[in-house]
Amino acid sequence: MSNKRVYTFGDGKAEGRADMKNLLGGKGANLAEMNLIGVPVPAGFTITTEVCTEYNQKGREAVVELMKAEVEAGIAATEKVMNAKFGSKGEAFPLLLSVRSGARVSMPGMMNTVLNLGMNDDAVKIVAEKSGNEKFAYDSYRRFIHMYGDVVMGVDGEEGEHDPFEMVLDRIKEAKGYDSDADFTAEDLKGIVEEYKAVVKERAGKDFPTDPWEQLWGAICAVFDSWNTPRAILYRQKEQIPEEWGTAVNVQAMVYGNMGETSATGVCFSRDAATGEDQFNGEYLVNAQGEDVVAGVRTPLEITKIGSQRWAERNGTSEADRLAKFPSLEEAMPQLYAELNAVQQKLEDHYSDMQDMEFTVQDGKLWMLQTRNGKRTGAAMVKMAIDMLEEGRIDEKTAVLRQEPNKLDELLHPVFDKEAIAKANVLSKGLPASPGAATGKIVFTADAAEQWAARGEKVILVRRETSPEDLAGMYAAEGILTERGGMTSHAAVVARGMGKCCVSSAAGISVSHTALKIKGVEFKEGDFISLNGTTGEVYEGEVATITPSLDGDFAKIMDLAERHSRMYVRTNADTPADAQTAREFGAKGIGLCRTEHMFFEGDRIWKMREMILAENEEGRKAALAKLLPIQREDFYGILKAMDGFGVTIRLLDPPLHEFTPNDAASQKEMAEKLGVAVEVVKDKVESLHEFNPMLGHRGCRLGNTYPEITEMQARAIIEAACELKKEGFDPKPEIMVPLIGTVKELKMQEEIIRTTAAKVFEEKGMEVDYLVGTMIEIPRAALTADEVAEVAEFFSFGTNDLTQMTFGYSRDDAGKFLPVYIEKGILKQDPFQALDQTGVGQLVEMGCDKGRSARPDLKLGICGEHGGEPSSVEFCHRTGLDYVSCSPFRVPIARLAAAQANLR
Ligand code: PEP
Ligand code: MG
Repeated sequence: MSNKRVYTFGDGKAEGRADMKNLLGGKGANLAEMNLIGVPVPAGFTITTEVCTEYNQKGREAVVELMKAEVEAGIAATEKVMNAKFGSKGEAFPLLLSVRSGARVSMPGMMNTVLNLGMNDDAVKIVAEKSGNEKFAYDSYRRFIHMYGDVVMGVDGEEGEHDPFEMVLDRIKEAKGYDSDADFTAEDLKGIVEEYKAVVKERAGKDFPTDPWEQLWGAICAVFDSWNTPRAILYRQKEQIPEEWGTAVNVQAMVYGNMGETSATGVCFSRDAATGEDQFNGEYLVNAQGEDVVAGVRTPLEITKIGSQRWAERNGTSEADRLAKFPSLEEAMPQLYAELNAVQQKLEDHYSDMQDMEFTVQDGKLWMLQTRNGKRTGAAMVKMAIDMLEEGRIDEKTAVLRQEPNKLDELLHPVFDKEAIAKANVLSKGLPASPGAATGKIVFTADAAEQWAARGEKVILVRRETSPEDLAGMYAAEGILTERGGMTSHAAVVARGMGKCCVSSAAGISVSHTALKIKGVEFKEGDFISLNGTTGEVYEGEVATITPSLDGDFAKIMDLAERHSRMYVRTNADTPADAQTAREFGAKGIGLCRTEHMFFEGDRIWKMREMILAENEEGRKAALAKLLPIQREDFYGILKAMDGFGVTIRLLDPPLHEFTPNDAASQKEMAEKLGVAVEVVKDKVESLHEFNPMLGHRGCRLGNTYPEITEMQARAIIEAACELKKEGFDPKPEIMVPLIGTVKELKMQEEIIRTTAAKVFEEKGMEVDYLVGTMIEIPRAALTADEVAEVAEFFSFGTNDLTQMTFGYSRDDAGKFLPVYIEKGILKQDPFQALDQTGVGQLVEMGCDKGRSARPDLKLGICGEHGGEPSSVEFCHRTGLDYVSCSPFRVPIARLAAAQANLR
């Protein structure tokens, strides 16, 4: 690590830059950059993320000592720019500070912040005198004690108790008959400050620190500590943020949006974060601090006139009422609005991306407190990239790299069925805080959301407002409905980041711990409601959903992905309909058709069972003959849907017991249906029982012990292909042998396939091209891939089994311990979701290298679940695979990930 721990900024100068996010955190790097491009930013300094890591290793005392001189110099520099004195006794205006976290990527509301630091009995008097606003001074002081008491000294409500500071406020409000905090007089606030100090003394067992330096070190360390709170850890896990990154600490001069009617504070976006529309927007509050906007306690007003008008329309507010009570910043403070508008444009132009900004107006002067690339919905992500590309602001490469592949999911997610929604009863309308449709049972706590979801229920989390403590419940819920809050409040920001539907501030609703009341009607836990996060509507009951149609920008992004990829994407599909869907999403062929899935449908299972019950080859052949036309029809449909593209069809893979019933009643039914004694069925089921079915009689072991199965399947495939070719289609079957561990296993299957194909060709008097290949899903197959490739014309890595067998984790039982392993950090992520590149990855690499050494034109692909997971797709690209294959709805994600891998 470098010896420089502190980077100062202010007055148009900065030691940092925007490209130093890893060291200074996103916020710190952008504060520096804003100074450099002439945007007004209060002076301050950033303590680097490396110091956070150092702090976690060496401990508080050692690290405070190491950074002391630099922090002192940072304060001196800030004092100079701001013309104020930290710990002033009256000789100058007191320097008051905000101390905030700032990681490489934003973690909204996850870590600690302390505002108004430096306040004490001396400072408050000077601020009161010099600002001529005693009420403001004491209000800042009491806010500081509250925040510092909570964040640094751990004074908050005990389990089940209200916040003790809030209780003081509530008692005084009630005694004086006030409606809101705004009614407190300066004298009230002086009394509150003293009471707050007493609360701290009683709860923390020591006096509230009056020395500003003691306050500062306390706050800096509290920010570092907040990197490791349970909620931050949970967020990091979910968002895959490494622990080693650490957070920076930004110490910056305070500016005040609560100095009176010429002060304000707000949050704004240079484009619409929900839809992507190129429309400046945001929310503000007059005479308020930033946390008032973010916490959603007071419902903020719109910044632009057009935004305000749209808001009024949604709410049914008349134009006269809107202007009188809810004016936009554009109308209320036109001069400032013009300045802010110019700054937001400058920032967007500079960063060439949508900016999410925080600002404060102190007594008529505009200050920018933060800018960052704004979080956005999947739809907005696609639209903004295409718009900016077409505006000439970014190039194709940037447009592709700016996509988060997993976010495309949101575009592919269900919307409400039109007919169902037309009949549904609208209960209320709120802010469309995060788009999408959701339906589920009402729960009122995050815990309940988690518990209900764990048992498979779909839930809607209904809260007065959400806070970071609700995070796990928000992840678990289908959607979120809140009574309060605006578009930039916690619920909205976090839900959008998660891509989860959210409706906030719905009209006429009230939420308690046990009930949701909407216009007089009461809803209890477990009642169904439905939310439309795109329009803000709340519906009674369960409303059916359907898959959305995709717009032109989506197609343009997919087209860019296509042009910038080396690998192509296939799909895992077992039916013509799935194949068709995937083809519409851009799949170029099928990477895995699991033929066993075809045997479960309707009547077919009986023919399969007949084959299983057969006592000898003769009997099996008779049963298989009945399955042949059905299989042929299946393959015909699938090959036709993927006309012109390769279709990899895998021979029967699962152990046969999967096709037989276990319970007595079903066994009896099977016996009756197949005309045998029930004992015969029972004996068969028993004889098929295996201790380790995943390692048992399955895959090519079936085909090698019962060659007639392979023969039937090969015949069905080749006959279907011949039929299609005769009709003028271009079928490209690729017959895949599963679960081989030795080349001999493959060789024997290959012989059956080729002999059968030759027979069919002779019978039909025609030929079709086809390939024979294998899955590489047993470690031994990867280790001997050069031998295997002597026979196989293609490899498809079955990374589900390969992971299972390399780790020795049963795919079906790993759920019992994997979550604990991830929680304890034994594994960083579930290896069945994201390919384990260091371990399993080596086998894939070895399989490719050895395979190609024996057969240079060997076709290589992957068909395990990893084929649709972006980090695994990246690995496949690096390893030189020709394609990845994944489920139809992940095809667009894989296509984008493939392009990104190629462009990085
Ligand atoms: C695999 O093992 O990765 C695979 C695709 O096959 P299945 O999941 O059907 O075992
Ligand atoms: Mg497998």
